[in-house]
Amino acid sequence: MPNERTTDYDVLVIGGGGAGLSAAITASDAGARVALLEAGSRLGGSTALAGGYLYATGTWQQSEQQVEDSVAAMVDDIRAIEGDSIPEGVLWRFAEGCADTVAWLEQQGVEFPVERLVSADGRMPPRSHEPTGGGAAIAERLDYQVSRRPIDVVLNSRVTRLCRDASGVINGIEIDGEQITAGAVVVACGGIGGDDELLDRMCPKSIRGGDWRWFIGCETNRGDGLRMCEAQGARITGEDSGLFLMTPNFYRDLEVIGPSWVLLVNSEGRRIAREDGAYWELSEALEAQVDGRGYCVFDQLQMQSAAPDPRVLEALEQGAITLSWIPRVLQEQVDRGKILMADSIAELARKTGIDAVTLESTVARYNDNAAQGVDRDFGKQPANLTPIESAPFYAAEVRPAIAIVLGAGPAIDSRARVLNTAGAAIPGLFAAGDAVGNSYGRYYVGSGYAIASAITFGRAAGEEAARHAGCIA
Ligand SMILES: Cc1cc2nc3c(=O)[nH]c(=O)nc-3n(C[C@H](O)[C@H](O)[C@H](O)COP(=O)(O)OP(=O)(O)OC[C@H]3O[C@@H](n4cnc5c(N)ncnc54)[C@H](O)[C@@H]3O)c2cc1C
Repeated sequence: MPNERTTDYDVLVIGGGGAGLSAAITASDAGARVALLEAGSRLGGSTALAGGYLYATGTWQQSEQQVEDSVAAMVDDIRAIEGDSIPEGVLWRFAEGCADTVAWLEQQGVEFPVERLVSADGRMPPRSHEPTGGGAAIAERLDYQVSRRPIDVVLNSRVTRLCRDASGVINGIEIDGEQITAGAVVVACGGIGGDDELLDRMCPKSIRGGDWRWFIGCETNRGDGLRMCEAQGARITGEDSGLFLMTPNFYRDLEVIGPSWVLLVNSEGRRIAREDGAYWELSEALEAQVDGRGYCVFDQLQMQSAAPDPRVLEALEQGAITLSWIPRVLQEQVDRGKILMADSIAELARKTGIDAVTLESTVARYNDNAAQGVDRDFGKQPANLTPIESAPFYAAEVRPAIAIVLGAGPAIDSRARVLNTAGAAIPGLFAAGDAVGNSYGRYYVGSGYAIASAITFGRAAGEEAARHAGCIA
């Protein structure tokens, strides 16, 4: 039942990242009295740390670049990657709403220059829109827009409990033993990355990363949304979803793109991916292995000429990443014994525990591809296809172990309503962003999907919450 403004607020938003800020602004613009509670000492969450790409189709940037694309084509591409792990209604709401999300962010002051529109994997149409100033600029502009509205922002306030009335309608939260009442609540408090126990439970695949696994993101994202919604009977979903970046575990620094010049094999010595593919393709190829790991194999010439991938140069200049795959670091890691070295491929195989005959045959096939200038097996770019033939030879173990986007949490529908275990909406409860379990899907679609979804459903949650609270007819 819509409340008659007898509550403390119309809409309470938990979490002040991209999803929560968008929900608060939208609800406020719909006339709701809004409070936003944030666990950290400042707003922004993981959104402020992100590259800030937004995945969208139907934008003016695409039109200007004469990109041939459509909502249906985007849905098909996402389906091809995700299967049915994103419900039909949620997927279409995203696909139909993402262009408007880019436009809405532009109205809030975020710029998406037309020349910064890129294809996420070099195969799909260009859909990744990079904002000037990255995710920090998105967070800063949304923070500014919140400050211009009558929205109460309360920092250093970690919410861990939702309240409901006798009829089961969510009607507020409890914090420090005190109840704050509201017509509706939006859960936008990020993912589970900051909580190892939840990571083990919801992402068992990541346990194979062992002590290599670590989370990069907002450290106050500790799965509170999942726990709070679960306590209210929500269906929890998204097990084993999300993006774990490939790493050789030389350092605990963000590495997005691995070396495109290596040969990537599994523990049986078989090649598993186009090494210059998108970062999520490499992660998925490794996750598909029985032991969840692989080896980057290369030779002395490749090691000496290892240069940063052109795709990371800008991030490098901005200090957003460090480099693992350059000669100095590689030599350091050889000296540390982290990279194995041998005078022959057979000996390298023995050192790594890989079957020597299989690895020799894989290297021979790869070298033959290189000689012909065509990767007949995975379609790697000829420029990245150099033979492995100058001793000594090297192998660095890699695992998909950097947890960056987690997709576990309550299920929502296309209106951002949290669903219970029977599939019905829990009245008064809405969610968006990393806190949700069925909006990102099992795999990562590509650069920009997470923020575009967080903001699209953040706006939907803000509007629906305001409607539920009786602020919209
Ligand atoms: C380095 C990096 C780069 C990335 N690059 C991209 C990219 O280019 N494009 C893309 O689409 N995605 C990217 N991502 C992922 C993307 O940043 C997130 O998926 C997205 O920002 C999630 O937004 P959100 O609002 O759901 O969560 P967040 O932005 O993390 O906000 C959640 C907020 O909730 C607060 N909170 C947590 N618990 C509570 C609680 N109990 N009570 C109150 N507040 C709470 C947190 O403190 C935080 O401020 C990147 C992530 C990282 C770490």
